[in-house]
Amino acid sequence: MVNFSQRLGKLSPYPFVEISRIIAEKRAAGVDVVTFGIGDPDIPTPQHIIDRLLTASEDPSNHRYPETDGLPEMRRAIAHWYRQRFDVDLDPDTEVLPLIGAKEGIGHAAFCFLDPGDIALVPDPAYPVYSVGTMFAGAESYVMPLYERNGWLPELDAIPNDVARQAKVMWLNYPNNPTSAVASQEDLESAMRYCREHDIALLHDAAYSEVGYEGYRAGSLLQIDGAKDVGLEFHSLSKTYNMTGWRMGMAVGNADMIKALFQIKANLDSGVPQAIQEMSIEALTGSQDCIDENVAKYTWRRDRVLQALTRMGLKVDVPRASLYIWAPVPEGFTSAEFAARLLEETDIVVTPGSSYGQYGEGYIRLSLTTPDERVETGCQRLENWVIPSPTLRT
Ligand SMILES: *Cc1c(COP(=O)(O)O)cnc(C)c1O
Repeated sequence: MVNFSQRLGKLSPYPFVEISRIIAEKRAAGVDVVTFGIGDPDIPTPQHIIDRLLTASEDPSNHRYPETDGLPEMRRAIAHWYRQRFDVDLDPDTEVLPLIGAKEGIGHAAFCFLDPGDIALVPDPAYPVYSVGTMFAGAESYVMPLYERNGWLPELDAIPNDVARQAKVMWLNYPNNPTSAVASQEDLESAMRYCREHDIALLHDAAYSEVGYEGYRAGSLLQIDGAKDVGLEFHSLSKTYNMTGWRMGMAVGNADMIKALFQIKANLDSGVPQAIQEMSIEALTGSQDCIDENVAKYTWRRDRVLQALTRMGLKVDVPRASLYIWAPVPEGFTSAEFAARLLEETDIVVTPGSSYGQYGEGYIRLSLTTPDERVETGCQRLENWVIPSPTLRT
């Protein structure tokens, strides 16, 4: 018998692993499942980006170990993109670090700032990696509840002083997964002020910055004066360029924080495969047409799903950004019960809000990364479904 670590025992199943298992079972039984589950773009990576990968894969210099901090041209492409998109200047050699997807960097960032006994300020509901990384580092998450009444922004005044003193990092994520909320520059600025005052590293996950509707364009944390004092921003090529399968993200911001993350990573991984870096350079510096094309597709899906949910009698806010619809469940159901009922009775997969933390209870998340015709099929099923009475619960 081997003995496993305590930290392993503290992990709850990663939400999508369990859902993937149920979908696989149903599909194996011949059931036509429509999934609004995981946020994983169904649209292929644009051809010009793939072409660059094909060429790059032929180059023997790309067959060898990459550097942890990436190709210099990769770091320059990231800085270039930031300048074009946010009008922010970055030193490509000290303020930029490529990641094997944002998830990797977010998880490893915990090791840069947290020791046992330290506190991380973590929003709830949230992308699970912030609190899991905290736990892996032996530190504690202090939950910042996100409430609808606050536009899903944390109440910084509600954080007790002794917690603020022990806190080493604060995680934020806007446009937000799972709530699809957006933050104004003033919102980011007050978080920044709070973190500077308390010597807290402000870690902003901006994975959805390029998915905005009706012309909404998210800002960057680094546009705020003084942001580079305590700020680090995480981005991903996954959602922006339909590149979830290729694994490319980046961290940018404070040079000491970038160096710390580099040091952790240099001891754990060997960087992003260079052919993937080359395709990523093409993504960041080549045609940006796919961003608008994606948004046009997601807008149709968003509106179609909103229509179906409204016809079901649910009251749903119209998202201004992100790939998600965050819908309240009918009275009397927990989010897990409602998601289970949907799956049982309509073969539709949604994510229960409670998988993103206790404050996600009462909501379900629907992802728009499903082909249009599947969205249509799913919406028709939703519209024809008579919501069971919660008192008839099985
Ligand atoms: C999808 C997602 C990521 C992960 O991006 P990768 O680059 O694919 O690892 C990070 N943060 C949030 C909030 C996400 O939803």
